[in-house]
Amino acid sequence: MNPIDYLRISVIDRCNFRCQYCMPEGADLAYVLRQNWLTRQELNRLLREVFVPVGFTRFRLTGGEPLLRADLVDIVADIVALPETEDISLTSNGFLLAKLAQPLWEAGLRRLNISLDSLDADTFATIIGRPGATRWNQVWAGIQAAHRVGFDPLKLNVVVIPGVNDHEVLDLAALTLDRQWHVRFIEFMPIGNGDLFAATGWVPSEVLRSQIRDRWGLVSGNVLGNGPADIFQIPGAQGTLGFISQMSECFCDRCNRMRLSADGWLRPCLLNETGQINLRELLRGGMPLAEIRDRVAALVWAKPEINFKMRDSGTTGTYRRTMSQIGG
Ligand code: SAM
Ligand code: SF4
Repeated sequence: MNPIDYLRISVIDRCNFRCQYCMPEGADLAYVLRQNWLTRQELNRLLREVFVPVGFTRFRLTGGEPLLRADLVDIVADIVALPETEDISLTSNGFLLAKLAQPLWEAGLRRLNISLDSLDADTFATIIGRPGATRWNQVWAGIQAAHRVGFDPLKLNVVVIPGVNDHEVLDLAALTLDRQWHVRFIEFMPIGNGDLFAATGWVPSEVLRSQIRDRWGLVSGNVLGNGPADIFQIPGAQGTLGFISQMSECFCDRCNRMRLSADGWLRPCLLNETGQINLRELLRGGMPLAEIRDRVAALVWAKPEINFKMRDSGTTGTYRRTMSQIGG
């Protein structure tokens, strides 16, 4: 069995952006009440007493927008302090990063993914659902700050949406020519905004690779912590390119992750809620930690079966929950 040792932890379900593909303006986002967020102390207890003993050693903090969580730097420090932690990383939209890159580095964070879907401030504003050029500038300042502080590899995530930013693929790939950055193209999934997905469709990674290959050539590459991405490099480039092809390829059988939502739901699979458990309710209801540990261990054990059911059922519908709610 594939070891299940990687936990994606959503620390918040709110966001300061309204990305069209994730939390479109006007959508009913059904936020959880703040008092239902796992507190820093609850999260720490769950990690120490439940997740680490069950075998989780690698953690990614995400959201919503994790930099909006006031105690984020302390949460990072807590996870870094766990002797069993082999890896901790963070995914952010970068908007608040110019101020937070240094404190996060000092707390022990070394790996960071920043979403940047466009190099054009107007296109960016359209994608994130917030008018004006200031946000792109602030995200770019956040990326520069992270680079200065020392985050390496610095990874940029791009969701490619036909007719919106697919014309920028070569410009985004060109960022790797003279920078040691890692640009990752993510196939748009029918999750969060089914209407947009139905209207635009998605671009298979191979189409992007062939555009890049035609322009510069493309060879296999390598990068630390590549997860489900296939890694390539433009010959002679400083940085690398990643392609996350969850639509065109099924990588369920090599999936090593589970997701914990801000309000404590532990989900064995991104697109299948079978078997999920609410750890906050169990913890606050007074269930002994040993019993919670057994419940989590049983879910880890059942996960491959849950993944395979999803794949074999050929599920192709759209999903009600957004990445921001599940912990993308
Ligand atoms: N707010 C942070 C950010 O945007 O990086 C972290 C949370 S966000 C939900 C995590 C990742 O999910 C981002 O890279 C985002 O682009 C991706 N994502 C969200 N909705 C998606 C969708 N429908 N298809 C593919 N990727 C999506
Ligand atoms: Fe916010 Fe990230 Fe979703 Fe965009 S992708 S709306 S930045 S949570």
